[in-house]
Amino acid sequence: MADQAVLRLENVRKVYSAGEIEFEALHGVSLDIGQGEYVAVAGPSGSGKSTLMNILGCLDVATEGRYEIAGQDVGQMDESELAELRCRQIGFVFQQFNLLPSMSAWRNVELPLSYAGVAPAQRRRRAIDALESVGLGDKIDNRPGQLSGGQQQRVAIARALVSEPTLLLADEPTGNLDTASAKEILGIFDQVHRAGRTIVLITHDWDVARRAGRSIEVRDGTILEGGGRA
Ligand code: ADP
Ligand code: MG
Repeated sequence: MADQAVLRLENVRKVYSAGEIEFEALHGVSLDIGQGEYVAVAGPSGSGKSTLMNILGCLDVATEGRYEIAGQDVGQMDESELAELRCRQIGFVFQQFNLLPSMSAWRNVELPLSYAGVAPAQRRRRAIDALESVGLGDKIDNRPGQLSGGQQQRVAIARALVSEPTLLLADEPTGNLDTASAKEILGIFDQVHRAGRTIVLITHDWDVARRAGRSIEVRDGTILEGGGRA
């Protein structure tokens, strides 16, 4: 096992229960992800990718097994500690962008900093810097509805990175985009990776997954390293 693992899953099982019915979505997954790695998690619909992402992002907890971020055992944390961990250590990017439509781009981007208690003037400066880093320095006052899908996803990436998280976690970030915009977004992920950030990118598309340095295949709730290359 890598000594520098920032994320470590050990025998993680996830069982969903609805009344009498139980469904095991992850069957004992173990995985180490090192500092600065760019890892794609790929697999068909229903294989357990979002379940895995929710656990990695501390949005849900494992039924059994252990999950550590930067050496901290997530299973021992209460809800407020988990919220704090999400806020400080993880930047999320979703397929649907999840921007607030009534707020300008920079207001959307500064939001995580306001939750973290950063002073207003510094929030604005950092939000603008983050938007410039994704090539949107001239769109800071635009609302999401005035931006293309690719531009909206770039705002979402700026928002995910503005608090300088340990991990950038993206679930199907190109799933709603045309080919050209998707390419642009993957270019930004390459740039974020070169800057030393740890990235986990979840996708059903192997062409997207192959952009990452390492790929992991999820199939029916289990994982295979370097899968999908046949
Ligand atoms: P993917 O993201 O790869 O499409 P998911 O992680 O969303 O897969 O789902 C994996 C499996 O777990 C699927 O069979 C799905 O139906 C099931 N599942 C997901 N969420 C729930 C839930 N809340 N309750 C019951 N079953 C669920
Ligand atoms: Mg999914």
